[in-house]
Order: sequence, then C-alpha cells, then structure tokens
Amino acid sequence: MAIDHEELLHLLNRRLFLVGSAALASVSTMPWKALALSTEPLKFVQGEFEVTVFSDGSLRLPLNIIAADASPAQLKEIAKRLGWTSDNAELGTNIPLIKKGQDLVLIDNGSANKFQPTAGKLAENLKAAGIDPSAVTKVVFTHAHPDHIWGTLVDGDKLFLPNAAYYVGSAEWNFWTDPELLSKMPAEMGDFVKGAQRSLAAVKDRVTMVKGGDEIVPGLSVLDTPGHTPGHISLELSGGEGLIITADAMTNEIVSFEHPEWKFGFDANPDLAIENRKKLVDRAATDKIKMLGFHWTYPGLGIAERKGAAYVFAKAS
Ligand SMILES: [Zn+2]
Repeated sequence: MAIDHEELLHLLNRRLFLVGSAALASVSTMPWKALALSTEPLKFVQGEFEVTVFSDGSLRLPLNIIAADASPAQLKEIAKRLGWTSDNAELGTNIPLIKKGQDLVLIDNGSANKFQPTAGKLAENLKAAGIDPSAVTKVVFTHAHPDHIWGTLVDGDKLFLPNAAYYVGSAEWNFWTDPELLSKMPAEMGDFVKGAQRSLAAVKDRVTMVKGGDEIVPGLSVLDTPGHTPGHISLELSGGEGLIITADAMTNEIVSFEHPEWKFGFDANPDLAIENRKKLVDRAATDKIKMLGFHWTYPGLGIAERKGAAYVFAKAS
C-alpha cells in the first residue's frame, strides 16, 4: 500500500507530534520517583470472562499532550482533579488479562525497559500474581506505539510471551511494516518506526490480521477505531452490561469524556480520532456499556454518563 508524503504527514500530524516528541525528550532527563506497584490487581467477572487489570507502571508526559486545545488554566484544573502533583501528565498503563476457558488473552504487552523508567512493570506484576508469561495464549495489539508493544521482545530477541498467538489490525500492520516507512517519516518518528517494526517482525510467523467485527475468542470482538494511529483497534467483551476496552481511542478519563472534541497530542489523524472517540463514548453512554481505558488512572474502569452535550466518567468496579 503506497502512502504519498502529504497523506503521511496528515496521518502523523507532524505539528502535534513534534510538540510531543520534543517535550518527551525533555521529561526523560528529569528525576524519577519510584513507582508503587499495585499488589492486588483488580479482578472482575464479565459474562463468561474473568478480567484482571495489570499495570505496566506509569508514563510521564507533558501536560498539554492530553489536551492540545485546552488553556493552561483548564489543564491545571484537570491535573488537580486527577491528583497529578508534578507539572506532567501521569498516565496509567492498564493492561487487561482476559480468561475464558483455556485461553488467557492479554491486550497489549507494555513497553518493557525500553520507553520510560516508570513503565515496564508488567512482567513484575504478572509474576506477583502468579501468572507465568508462557501461560498467555493470545495477545492483541491495539496499535504499534511504544507503550503498547515495545515489551514484545525481552533480553534482546526473546518473546516475552513465548507461546502466544498475536492479533493486530491489518491496517496497523500494513502501515508500520512498510519497508519504506522510515524514509517517508519525519526524523523525529525514527525510534517509533524502528521499535514498531522490530516488535511486529518478531511475531510475523504467529500473527493473525484482524478487522472490525472479527472475534479473538467467542465474545471478544474487534472494533475499528482509527485516528490515534492508522489501524488502531479497540475491543468489546460481551456478557453482563458489556465492556469496551478503548485502548488509545480515549486516553484520559476527564478529557475524553468531557471534551471528546479536543485533540490528543499523539493522535496521528486528530479529526478521525475525534470522530471515532465521539462514536465510542456516545454508544457506551446510550447502551450503558462499561469502559476500560489504557491510560486512565488505575484500574481505568468506569461508565460514561451524559452531561449536557458531553459526558462524565463515573468509576465502576
Ligand atoms: Zn498509549
């Protein structure tokens, strides 16, 4: 699939991305405080599924990444409501492990020790819960950004989850595995491209391409939610009131609900991301479907309630 340069820049939203990557470089020089790990991960039953939410640690990002359209005063207020104490956004990384019958399905596998020093805690947290990585049977990649898939390889070239089958959106796979991609991208995207290509190449012999409507296991289906990346997918679990695993279609429990029309700094195509975000939150509010967000405050589980023309997030357990 050929992508011309103009379309590519549109997809990557160079302006927003540059703001994000420059700021990321500056936060990475800051001192890190040790992250307290959750000793008792949240576990709940959803229809025929048992879901445990693991954390991969936290991510520090410049505050304006969560809402590029917000004023400094609005950002300050949001940070205060979320209890963020530094000048940065402190995002969670909530990774659900879904058990059904003999299957153990992990949604994304974190960033290992390759992205930020406060992240890469998934292995430790699985171990603390007595789960052997070799027992995971399936892994779904929602998209190929570092915080979601750089944990695919550990100790150089070993798969972290050695016995799993992998699932990824076909549009996402095609975008990142384009051999010409590195030369087509802005230089600032180089590490993202190389990391995505290395992680995806590692699973090429055991990957299944998926699209909206496909099932990973019966009752766990794929939703097409492009915009954050070209082939971003979310997931939906049937049973009970239903559960939508939004991944990065909704990146913050205040901003994505109360201002779904605001741009997120790492959305490749903000307009498409906004359109899909609005559809997702509207459907969840209408049908009272629970939602689980990757970057929301741990464990990131709640419902959308209508408020005026927008929504508010209400915690669920
Ligand atoms: Zn993310």
